[in-house]
Amino acid sequence: MTVAGLSARRDKALGAGAALFYRTPLHIVRGEGAYLYDADGRRYVDMYNNVPCVGHANPYVVEAMSRQQATLNVHSRYLHEGVVAFAERLAALHGPQIESVIFSCSGTEANEVAVRMARFATGKRGIVFTDATYHGNSDLISQMTRVSAAGSKNPELRAIPFPQTYRPLESGLSEAELCEAYLARLAAAIADLERDGGGFAALIVCSIFANEGLPDVPKGFMARAAEMVHAAGGLVIADEVQAGYGRTGGWWGYDVAGFVPDIVVTGKPMGNGLPLAATAASRALVEGFRAKTRYFNTFASSPLQAAVGMAVLDVIERDGLIENVAAVGGPLKQALAERQGGWDAIGDVRGHGLFIGVEMIKDPESKAPDAAMAAEVSNRLKDKGFLTAPAGAHGNVVKIRPPLVFSQADAEAFLEAFDATVAELHG
Ligand code: PMP
Repeated sequence: MTVAGLSARRDKALGAGAALFYRTPLHIVRGEGAYLYDADGRRYVDMYNNVPCVGHANPYVVEAMSRQQATLNVHSRYLHEGVVAFAERLAALHGPQIESVIFSCSGTEANEVAVRMARFATGKRGIVFTDATYHGNSDLISQMTRVSAAGSKNPELRAIPFPQTYRPLESGLSEAELCEAYLARLAAAIADLERDGGGFAALIVCSIFANEGLPDVPKGFMARAAEMVHAAGGLVIADEVQAGYGRTGGWWGYDVAGFVPDIVVTGKPMGNGLPLAATAASRALVEGFRAKTRYFNTFASSPLQAAVGMAVLDVIERDGLIENVAAVGGPLKQALAERQGGWDAIGDVRGHGLFIGVEMIKDPESKAPDAAMAAEVSNRLKDKGFLTAPAGAHGNVVKIRPPLVFSQADAEAFLEAFDATVAELHG
């Protein structure tokens, strides 16, 4: 089956409009560790996928999955020690404010639980979010996605500009003044909700603003934002679906960002591909939610989720993957930053651990985003056997986010391919 033939079948079977990456889509048939293999047997270094955090087809996780599935898999209305132990282990990865966990099957569901939990706890309705974020695809959560501050029709939602130093909200400000300017937007959104949005319940952010393009944030912004939220009687929801689970070189993105959340949402990497997500909070918050909803989720909180979730944590700890993130990610970001001076089209290199963004621009004066160039770079890297994709608020950031098992040798090979790509495009 040719790529074109399979694409045409896919358009009919799934409905055209289901997006595919790359000018010529990739037809992959197998994965192993940080590698993907196409139908012709060609190997690609996966520098995009965070879900298979401990590697594609990780044998330890696959073994745990098949052993559990061959023993017992059932819904959550029976006692099962594995589920309890997994919730305990997950909660213990956070500070003492996080005690209990509600499992679900996707980041969207876990964010829904978080938002509802905050609304029950505060008795208020209003939610503040950043204006180029993504938190999920349900009716409620999708309204918190890339809507401009003025564009949201939902009276209970307010978008604020995401904090960044690269394209600051106002020019000519010091970093401290810029921080105040962003905080003033948060204060205004809270006041607006209190006036006319059912009151203020929560601020929800991706701790490292991943979908926004991994901006460098004015120093101290999140700590001050969390203070402001608490002073207004609200709760802080950290969406760690992308930021968490070792991605930044520590367990949680909120540590990098310097704040302490009330509610933590995790998803993507938790099950290395098995649908598994969680909303974690204090026991009081979790029990407040349970009392109001009698929450049940057929596939969640199952022995299978627990066995796989445990196996993923085992591998992260056993193989020192968080240390690997710091060891490989830091020098990779540094090396890419060194390329910046050599090509005007690279406006900025940002990120944390093994999550790096290369911002492509039309020229250094205007910093006009160049989404076409980001797509071009990513297509050419793919042709050389390295998988990335454009992302960010303007679609112009080449996103580098490999499985946590990504090696130093692959990072070096990638830099060669990156240099070759720059040479082709820059001359
Ligand atoms: N939060 C963030 C920060 C995400 O990036 C995503 C997915 N890209 C989600 C939540 C939603 O997760 P899911 O697709 O599992 O519903």
